[in-house]
Amino acid sequence: MNARNCKMCGRLFNYVAGPPYCPACKDDIEKKFQEAKEFIRNTPHATVAMVSEEIKVPEKQIKQWIKEERLVFADATVAGIVCENCGTPIVTGRFCAKCKAEVMNDLNGAMRKPEAPKVEKKAKDSPRMRFLDNR
Ligand SMILES: [Zn+2]
Ligand SMILES: [Zn+2]
Repeated sequence: MNARNCKMCGRLFNYVAGPPYCPACKDDIEKKFQEAKEFIRNTPHATVAMVSEEIKVPEKQIKQWIKEERLVFADATVAGIVCENCGTPIVTGRFCAKCKAEVMNDLNGAMRKPEAPKVEKKAKDSPRMRFLDNR
């Protein structure tokens, strides 16, 4: 048992996993998410602010969906989402494809146990910071 107060309505509920919202609010958010998706599908030049205004959901929530890669915008140049690493306009997620590959590499590297080194020598000397130069 893990009782928590819902972040949306304040009601106490039995927390299981994910965002701290009660089932009723989760339903609401899910509905809003569908609305957001629909809106973006019908609006090729949708921005985060436009979606927020249209479906009456804070930009923070929209950005959360973007981070989770649930919302995908059609046009990166207007959506208002940029790669957290290099600032390239993107349509969903937190990083552009290039940086995402980098981050994945880093995560894999971090999770690897140091006492059990894998046979992966060439990665170390690759010019991984090179892409910063050709912007
Ligand atoms: Zn609630
Ligand atoms: Zn990037």
